[in-house]
Amino acid sequence: MEKLSIQDASYRLNLSQADIRECIRNGELKASREAGPAGRRWMVELPEDGWLDSFRASLNDLSDSITPWWWPTAAMSGEVHYVEDMGIEEIEPLYLCGLRGENVWDAKGHTEADRCPKCLDVAKERELPLW
Ligand SMILES: [Zn+2]
Repeated sequence: MEKLSIQDASYRLNLSQADIRECIRNGELKASREAGPAGRRWMVELPEDGWLDSFRASLNDLSDSITPWWWPTAAMSGEVHYVEDMGIEEIEPLYLCGLRGENVWDAKGHTEADRCPKCLDVAKERELPLW
């Protein structure tokens, strides 16, 4: 499977780098942080043919499906945590409860019971959207 930097993926898919990062955040594109000569950076798995068409088709309702809740591990078990903000160039998840993650995994379809109670408290306290 071919892996590209965010910059190369942006060029190859003809999407802005912001779009690529958004796709990584919402799970549309698979990506992982990998060590390279310039330090750790995000490498995007090049999607299958046809992905771009369906992505463009879904672009309009994409923002509705994004939740701020993420799995902190690839196992997708335990608790989902709330990510208030991620870095712009690098996606450095800092969860509300103080947990710092190496990566994020899409938590679409998680249940309320899966949510980290600490993150939930902070989110409520700051009146952040829970979805
Ligand atoms: Zn948490």
